[in-house]
Amino acid sequence: MKGKVYLVGAGPGDPELLTLKALKALKSADVVLHDELVSAEIIALIRSSAREVISVGKRGGRPSISQQEINQLLVKYGLLGLNVIRFKGGDPFIFGRGGEELEAVRQAGIECEIVPGITAALGAAASFQVPLTHRDAASSLLLITGHRAHEIGMQLSQADLANTTVVIYMPGQDYSRIQKELISAGITSGTPCAVVSQATTPYEQTHQTTVGELHRSPELPAPTLLIIGDVVRFAKPASFSYVLGMPLYEPADIKEGAL
Ligand code: SAH
Repeated sequence: MKGKVYLVGAGPGDPELLTLKALKALKSADVVLHDELVSAEIIALIRSSAREVISVGKRGGRPSISQQEINQLLVKYGLLGLNVIRFKGGDPFIFGRGGEELEAVRQAGIECEIVPGITAALGAAASFQVPLTHRDAASSLLLITGHRAHEIGMQLSQADLANTTVVIYMPGQDYSRIQKELISAGITSGTPCAVVSQATTPYEQTHQTTVGELHRSPELPAPTLLIIGDVVRFAKPASFSYVLGMPLYEPADIKEGAL
């Protein structure tokens, strides 16, 4: 009998931002293939009887295991009749190559289930308190990767640009290049923007600036993303640190299966 492959989103970092469905999947896993971005705290929630927990992550942009090899592993374990969890940072279908994995699993005739996760843009916006859309500031949202920043102008007219929040994933550290691309795409230099590093974790840092000053931004630890748009002016003051508030559940409740 064939097993089942779950493509599961781990959220942006804070373990409390896992979905109950993701937690359930981790508790029934035979094999887990996870990204480097998934924190040790979250990995600790995988049931201890899981046969294998394998990191297939990419570090510093260099793939340690190729996408094709990951696809092959998913299929191999699925054909062995196991419950296979492909555990990915954020959401599996946002810049996560989840579509390619889904295709490989389907082609092998193995059942696949997708468990969505909170994508980094939403996690960063929540902890930095930036409403990504706002009746007075933005009516649309564009998620894009750093190496596609030059395409923003091609995708949006001048009028749309003024009304759009742009979130750049994988911006790299070359902010001068991104700045040039944003300005040549038509985004004005006075537009507020922010670099958010390690959002929703205790190490979260933010740097708030404008597109015109972006090239002066400090290098913050990866992973980082950039939020650009008028909505950034609603961000909480820089002196506030990331506060989770009272946890709804103690980690022990989660481990002991109280949920
Ligand atoms: N599937 C993921 C994105 C994977 S691409 C998602 O939905 O979030 C990896 C990029 O996501 C990183 O380079 C960074 O730009 C962003 N990212 C992921 N986690 C982040 C975090 N906690 N804080 C800031 N950016 C993050």
